Amino acid sequence: MNQRIAVFPGSFDPFTIGHESIVSRSLGLFDKVIIAVGKNSTKANLFDIKKRVDWIREVFREFPQVEVDSYEGLTVDYCKRKGARFILRGLRTSSDFGFERGIGQVNKALLPEVETVFILALPEHSAISSTIIRDIIRNGGDASQFVPKAVRFD
Ligand code: ADP
Repeated sequence: MNQRIAVFPGSFDPFTIGHESIVSRSLGLFDKVIIAVGKNSTKANLFDIKKRVDWIREVFREFPQVEVDSYEGLTVDYCKRKGARFILRGLRTSSDFGFERGIGQVNKALLPEVETVFILALPEHSAISSTIIRDIIRNGGDASQFVPKAVRFD
């Protein structure tokens, strides 16, 4: 029993078509992908954690390979608890790279047996961020083109 389990950690506030694409494209690499909604983000959350988890579960309802969970504390500790050897992250821009390199290298120092695996955003997704979507929603705009169908803001 040496399953390839990946944790895809994030705030997912809300989950976007960019996130969905990263998960879908990773399914050929791993036996199981756990989308882990972090509770301790320093970012101001718009949607509560239960709603974020429920939305993502709905998006991947037909994918037994995908599990959705929430967690508190260090991502590496969560990986240990889950027996995950991979952390999955998406890369949009060079500024993502700068940020991700820091987290990835520190996570590697904390838990050497875990590898961070990066998947590049599709060009058409590289401008999509949860932050921009929150801004659209706060200002009464329609953000539906940027999120999976299961993510409903009404
Ligand atoms: P965090 O708060 O950890 O940055 P996010 O929910 O913002 O969590 O993002 C989770 C992961 O998804 C990060 O690796 C981020 O780079 C990636 N990501 C965010 N938006 C996109 C997108 N549009 N396309 C591809 N990857 C993305």
